[in-house]
Amino acid sequence: MTADTDARIARLLHHRKAGLSQGEPVVPPISVATTFHLPQAQGAAHHYGRSGQPTWDAVEAQLAILEGAEVVSFPSGMAAITAALVCCLKAGARVMIPSDGYYVTRLLGRDLLQVYGVEVVQVPTLEMADRDFAGFQVIYIETPSNPGLDVVDIAALARRAHAAGALLIADNTTMTPLLQRPLDLGADLVVAADTKAPAGHSDALFGHVAGRDANLMARVREWRRQSGSVPGPFEAYLVHRGLETLEVRLSRMCASAAVIAERLAAHPKVRGLRYPGLPGDPSHGSVGGQMANGGFLIGFELAGEAEAEAFLARCPLIEQATSFGGVHTAAERRARWGDAVAEGFIRLSVGVEPVEVLWSAIDAALEG
Ligand SMILES: *Cc1c(COP(=O)(O)O)cnc(C)c1O
Repeated sequence: MTADTDARIARLLHHRKAGLSQGEPVVPPISVATTFHLPQAQGAAHHYGRSGQPTWDAVEAQLAILEGAEVVSFPSGMAAITAALVCCLKAGARVMIPSDGYYVTRLLGRDLLQVYGVEVVQVPTLEMADRDFAGFQVIYIETPSNPGLDVVDIAALARRAHAAGALLIADNTTMTPLLQRPLDLGADLVVAADTKAPAGHSDALFGHVAGRDANLMARVREWRRQSGSVPGPFEAYLVHRGLETLEVRLSRMCASAAVIAERLAAHPKVRGLRYPGLPGDPSHGSVGGQMANGGFLIGFELAGEAEAEAFLARCPLIEQATSFGGVHTAAERRARWGDAVAEGFIRLSVGVEPVEVLWSAIDAALEG
């Protein structure tokens, strides 16, 4: 972590302090009020729970410190992605999205955006660098992509998008704002599923949009109010608590992932291993640049579907579950969702278990 990131983490942990008076709680209360004392229409911080409320304020303040930007929170990553795309597009517009990114984003393009008259063009992440952006209003990227872990050069794409008159939206879920800051590299909006590492305990759905253009962020905020796509106060509280330990968890998870990836790559039953942190990985050039490290996700192939399912079933320290970024190591065969990957392809999300215990369990499960 850089000194700048360290300072953000410290600020995040103490962000409520300056606003507290004698006897007030250190952690934010879970505010369940839908309506607020309002004798006059003007001058109150809050008036109605769909427009804004104190527990959202607390988690948005933390995320704003990490992003260095204004933040609007949403009830899930998909709600944040929908908000960003709807606010930047209208009928007749064209958007480029990755054909190898999170699959529900592609479904949203097909079943919502296209139905409302937006042309959705799917391009593999690695080919975006060579595509002409002329005629597009939005270029939407996911880097590293989920599950393939391919990367694009965010700064280069932002320059080219802006030259073509398009906005760049980046899904930063696989890295979190601690490991990658697309807004610093020129992206107009960041979207993220805080359901993953930021919440971190597989117990809350949450998302956010971050941006530095006040007009664009006002549209996103107004979309939340009009669509009613609002997070629950308990989820906001859980994400607030999760964010306080994000850096500690990520340190363990990413360090363990580097160890596990290196050993998996050397294993005779493993093929096609992808981990951006390994020298020789096609995405390695971005590590130390736009990515602080290689992250906590590893992709690899076993011989086929049966071998992959048997491995997952045998390993006592791998949760067989979708999603990633939680404290428990988890993995699944992505072909079961229709991702364009080999039948034996596994996406492994490394958790916080002590690494040697975790590796022993993985090694034993590989032996069968
Ligand atoms: C999980 C995920 C999402 C969706 O987040 P939800 O909170 O499940 O709606 C979006 N993008 C990426 C890259 C994801 O991994």
